[in-house]
Parts: sequence; structure tokens; C-alpha cells
Amino acid sequence: MPRPPAPQLAEYAKKRDFKKTPEPSGEAKKAKPTKLPRFVVQQHHATRLHWDFRLERDGVLVSWAVPRGIPPDPKQNHLAVHVEDHPLSYIDFHGEIPEGSYGAGRVTIWDEGTYETLKWSDREVMVVLHGKRVQGRYVLFQTRGKDWMIHRMDPPQDPGREPMPDRIVPMTAKLAPDLPRDQERYGFEYKWDGIRAVAYLSGGRLRLLSRSLEDVTFRYPELRALGEAVGAQEMILDGEVIAVNEKGRPSFERLQERMGLVNERDIKRKMQTVPVAYVIFDLLFLDGHPTMPLAYTERRRLLEGLQLKGKFWQVPPYQAGEGETMREASRKLEMEGIMAKRLDSAYHPARRSDAWLKIKNHLRQEVVIGGWLPGEGHREGRIGSLLIGYHRNGDLVYAGKVGTGFTDRMLEELEAKLRPLRRDSSPFTTAEPPPPKGAIFSEPELVGEVEFTEWTRTGQMRHPSFKGLRNDKPAKDVVREQYIASR
Ligand code: MN
Repeated sequence: MPRPPAPQLAEYAKKRDFKKTPEPSGEAKKAKPTKLPRFVVQQHHATRLHWDFRLERDGVLVSWAVPRGIPPDPKQNHLAVHVEDHPLSYIDFHGEIPEGSYGAGRVTIWDEGTYETLKWSDREVMVVLHGKRVQGRYVLFQTRGKDWMIHRMDPPQDPGREPMPDRIVPMTAKLAPDLPRDQERYGFEYKWDGIRAVAYLSGGRLRLLSRSLEDVTFRYPELRALGEAVGAQEMILDGEVIAVNEKGRPSFERLQERMGLVNERDIKRKMQTVPVAYVIFDLLFLDGHPTMPLAYTERRRLLEGLQLKGKFWQVPPYQAGEGETMREASRKLEMEGIMAKRLDSAYHPARRSDAWLKIKNHLRQEVVIGGWLPGEGHREGRIGSLLIGYHRNGDLVYAGKVGTGFTDRMLEELEAKLRPLRRDSSPFTTAEPPPPKGAIFSEPELVGEVEFTEWTRTGQMRHPSFKGLRNDKPAKDVVREQYIASR
């Protein structure tokens, strides 16, 4: 006959139906005599990921739920919510708590071992942990009600440990007209047509910052699960947030449907039809150590070793020294182009470095919109083409007109946005040849992106096609993209 559970376990038993959950019922068993009491840290993927910290004492497991995990560093204290005592037999529980049961989700053992008690009162518990992962002195102390804090009293276990940076401006590439001549020194990747984003992962939580260090985490809720997938590891990833079109090809235009949304309900709704994905291509920091000084090949090796693969994120492989193959593939897939990254190069934040080259299949250029020409035929009375330009030495240079690439939605948006910007005179200060007669001018405030085949000698774009408005860049920053010499 099993003995009834200890009285401290009444709350534990009340929350659970032991016919449905594989968790132990807490029927008392004779505990194995060990010299030191045991502890366990269970990683629990419940509605919110947390770590359950449990200490064996007086026949039960005294327990705290720690939302951000056991702090590795005395400089960061973590909240620890005191929860009901659990039965001793829970100490080796791992498995799946079924949907509908209390605490539904996967439980794994993150750490286990023995501990020594230095102090134990109702409001403060000081212990020395001897775990497989965690060793050292910790104190838990009550702050208010069930809220406690857990603090590491010893220096970090890893003496070289550094705090994780919280703002890194990503490294950028120079535009190159062709593949580098010494292809064998480069790793080649696809160029993803989306928005650059750096992911900071710590305590099972994701923080996503744009290139301009704007926090965009809330805009892409599907990426939150990356934090949970990474668990207690700390890392900074560099990549691109993309959305794919009907053809399965990354489309900046598609992503624009998500970029501007701020309202949670709008975001949730749009997520259903325009989901995003995070394409990860670099690792900047891992578990207390910056990886930026390491060579590209070494960073990529570490990144691939992390095996980050989920429904909404992936780490596409790179090709060492296979530029032509990669370019062919990117053309077939109708991608924007490829990136060439020096295999031996370090990561230089905020630098536009020629260790990274972007080689585009089509030329692309951001443009300032300075007016429009009315259309003819079925576009009569609407926008026929846009007058576009870019800045050069303080001038706004007229670069021609773009009359294709518009969707009906784009035209409506352009008409609505250009109407209040109307002005009488041309905003272009250099125009050779000048804008056509009949042009309607506007304040040079809107920024768009066009694709085209080549630059003319006079600085105009040949065969431009409109790709969409860009709301992530001020008009004054729009300059002509410069090629660097082929290496
Ligand atoms: Mn739990």
C-alpha cells in the first residue's frame, strides 16, 4: 500500500489529475539515503518558458519558478516565484504534460546535483549548488509575497565571461558589379530581400533590433518562439526578416504589408496571410563570449552547430568559393543577388566593409519621388509615371521617370501620399535632360525603390521598374549607390 502524500503536497495534488498527467502523484516512497540533499532545475516549456528550481528538504521539493533561468553572473539577479512544494519523486520527472492539464508542455532536466545549506529561513535560502552545469553559492530571498529573487554570490563560473552587449549596429556590404576575381577566398550566400535585424537571445526571450536599433520585436510575434527554442543559452544572431510571395520568393513588397503595423490585432491578423521568417547568417555573441573577432568560417561553424531550425527561422548554408554556381542559382530563383564574404574576415559592427560584397542580379536604387506625370489610356487621370531622383553633393539630381512595376494598391497609396505634397516648382536642382512638360511636382519627401538595368552616363536609370515605397529611410539620405572596383 502506498502511503498518502505528505501534507505539504495538498496544493500540488489539488492542481493535477494523475490519471491524465504523467507527473508523479507524490505517494511517499522511502527516500534513498544520500549524504547531501539533492536539487533539480527543470526547463519547462509551459505557456511561458521558465525554469523550475527545486531543493529537496523535509521530505518534499521546495520549489521556485524562475522565468529567466538560473543567473550565471552575480551582476544579474532573476525573479524566482515561490510555488507549492512538489513531491520528492518529481526530482527526476521529465516528459510531456498533456494539453489541458496544469502546466501543459514539455519538461526537461536542465541541471541536477546536490547542495549544501548555508542558511534557511522563511525569507532567505542560501545554498551551495553542486550540479552538472551549475556550481557555486546562490541566495534566494523574498521581496514581496510569492516573489523572491535568486542571486549568484560567487563570481561567474566562466572567468572569461562578458556581459552580452545590447546594441550592435550590423556590419554592411559594399556593392560590387561582379564576382570577386579571387572567388576561392569568399563564402557565398543568397542576398535576402527583407529587413536586417539583429536578435538578442537571453533567458529564453527574444529582442529584435533593426539596423537603426529600433526595437521591432513586437512586430514579428512568430519569431518569439526562437527565444524558447534557444532556452537558457545566450546569443546574438544577425540575419534578415523576410516575407515570401506566391512564388515562394522573398519579396520586400510583401514584407511591407507587415512593416508598418503597430496595432497588436492588425499584426495578429496579417500574420495569418503574410507570415515572416528570420533568415540567420551570422553569430555575434555566444554564452558570455563575443564571436565577432573570429573569422567568418569559424562564426559560421559555431552558428551551424547551434542547429537553429524552426518553422519561422533557418540558417541557410553558405558556399565556399562557389560564386558562379551560387549566382546562377540565385538567378533561377529570381532572388535579388548574392553576398560574397571573405572567409577570413572578422565581423566589424557598423562598418560598410569590402570584406563583404553584394552582387545584385538587377541594379536597385532608392529614389526620392519629386513628382509625377499623369497617365494615358486606362491610367488617364491617375499616375502614369513618377519623377525620381537622388542626392549628390547637396543637389537633388533628376534621374528620369519610372512608369512600370506599380500595383493598383501602390498607385492608390502614391496618389494619397503625393496629393498633399504638391508644389508649383520642380524640386530637382540638377536636371539634364529636364523633367517632361506636363509634370506635376511634389515636395521631395517620399522614398521609393526601383530596379533597373544600368546607369546612363548622365546619371539616369535605364529601364527602371518601381518596387515599392520605403518608409524606413528619410529622403535626405537617398544617394546614388556606388560600385567599388572589382577585386
Ligand atoms: Mn513549471
